[in-house]
Amino acid sequence: MSERKKKTALSAHSLSIFIECPRCFYLSIKKKTSRPRGPMPSIATGIDLLIKEYFEFFRKKNQLPPFLSGKVDGELISNLKKTYYYDLDENKDFYIWGHLDEVIKLKNGLYVPLDHKTRASKPKEEPHDAYKFQLGVYSLLLKKENNGEVVDFGYLVYYYPEKGLIDYEANEIKNIINFSFELKEVKLNINEVNEVINDAIKCLENDKPPESSRDCEYCKWIKKVKFYYLDEFEEDEKLKEDEKIEEISFPDGKLF
Ligand code: SF4
Repeated sequence: MSERKKKTALSAHSLSIFIECPRCFYLSIKKKTSRPRGPMPSIATGIDLLIKEYFEFFRKKNQLPPFLSGKVDGELISNLKKTYYYDLDENKDFYIWGHLDEVIKLKNGLYVPLDHKTRASKPKEEPHDAYKFQLGVYSLLLKKENNGEVVDFGYLVYYYPEKGLIDYEANEIKNIINFSFELKEVKLNINEVNEVINDAIKCLENDKPPESSRDCEYCKWIKKVKFYYLDEFEEDEKLKEDEKIEEISFPDGKLF
């Protein structure tokens, strides 16, 4: 068994659940019971895959995609790994893992994370804290590549449909809807990321799950409706008991 198999795996995703609600995080990691997922909009996944293919095309040519050239002082790394790992020096029972969208190698040799974000319109506001946190975790994942250094910035590229680029006269569908992009260099707070990791680990060391988040609708809903499910639950338990009695009374109907 590899060393990591004995450890608990955390990711930017699971840690952001901890920030949202420590209880949900605790239940998903320690009890392997995650909150049900809603339907995923497949259009975003489809666009994401196309963007990655587009980047792969330029990686093979050893070039930056033209829309990034002059905006990023580096190049695409030639060997983007499927998964990156960060083993915690101060806690050997945990490690962080993640799939990075892209990594830029700067002229000074440092590796910087880059993440693709598709959205409905041009971003007007500062990047969401959750995006900064995600890039902060990715920066830790690149610590080994950076010979122990942790870079304190990353890149976000937003892709969004641009109304001004619609060609109403176009005869072919491929020319009708066009996307624009915006590159943001994001300053990262690595101390904050490390604090979240430490707090998340402390949370898992408790015997009981923490309180539910007050803002989340799910647990409020469970508290309200659980009353209606109790009868069904008791009914299920009774059925199971009846089945057991039938099993052990086989073959001649007498109970053993
Ligand atoms: S309040 Fe409940 S459902 Fe919502 S995030 Fe927390 S544990 Fe999960």
